[in-house]
Amino acid sequence: MKIDSHTHTSYSKHAVGSVDEVVRSAIARGIDILTLTDHAPFHIDSRNRLLESELDAYFEDIESARSTYRGDIRILRGLEFDYLPGSCGYIERMQATYDLDFAIGSIHYVPLGADDTVKVWELDRLNHPAVLAHYFASLCELLECGLFDAVGHADTLVRGVPEPIVCRWMEPLAATFARHGIAFELNASGLRKTMLDTALGHEVDTRWSYPSRALLPMLIDAGAAFTIGSDAHAPEDVGAGVHAMLDALVPLGLRTVSYFEQHRRIDVDVALLTASTS
Ligand SMILES: [Zn+2]
Ligand SMILES: [Zn+2]
Repeated sequence: MKIDSHTHTSYSKHAVGSVDEVVRSAIARGIDILTLTDHAPFHIDSRNRLLESELDAYFEDIESARSTYRGDIRILRGLEFDYLPGSCGYIERMQATYDLDFAIGSIHYVPLGADDTVKVWELDRLNHPAVLAHYFASLCELLECGLFDAVGHADTLVRGVPEPIVCRWMEPLAATFARHGIAFELNASGLRKTMLDTALGHEVDTRWSYPSRALLPMLIDAGAAFTIGSDAHAPEDVGAGVHAMLDALVPLGLRTVSYFEQHRRIDVDVALLTASTS
């Protein structure tokens, strides 16, 4: 059995491939359960994601793929929402209008002041006390606001911040995932992303940035559930890295992976996911 619970299409603008192309790629790669999670409309970088005016078409494309490929693959309706403190009302209205299976809440932007916003891919700006304090305060609110089924790549900061520091900040929040029924996403795009080498002063290709292997046991002990996704931004990346990631995380104690249907969590034993590796 193969699951990918984080994928993008050209509706995200900085991603390529139609819904149909992403679904056909998923079928070709043997994926059984695919959740489409394009970037939801938001006021920051608003032209680099779904527009509000495109949401109907996005969900219609998903419905059409569901009926075309019924029997070949299970397709679920998701969105990846940006979270910033104060954005709850807007997100709540969108969720009330559209019937979602899966809502990811992700932090891509850390506002430091009126006109300074740090992006989580600006790796050399991440390891600063003010950025860390803002990021984890936002994460705490995201976990407690009740709008999301999972947090997307919550450990993305390890690309620019030493892992022990990220673990120290995450520790007080570990139990909050289980308490609020929000899953921690194991995001395989970290196997394709660079990290900041502080000694060299530039980004290097390490073949693994996140998910944080140091964090995992702490989250398991705290009772967190986990979703998995490739975070593909192109059809050929659907499913990418998911099995390599599971192969590395199961020895660390990962036993169950979950996906969401109509916001209901369905748990799958990792033995079912790793057995069919191809
Ligand atoms: Zn994206
Ligand atoms: Zn993201």
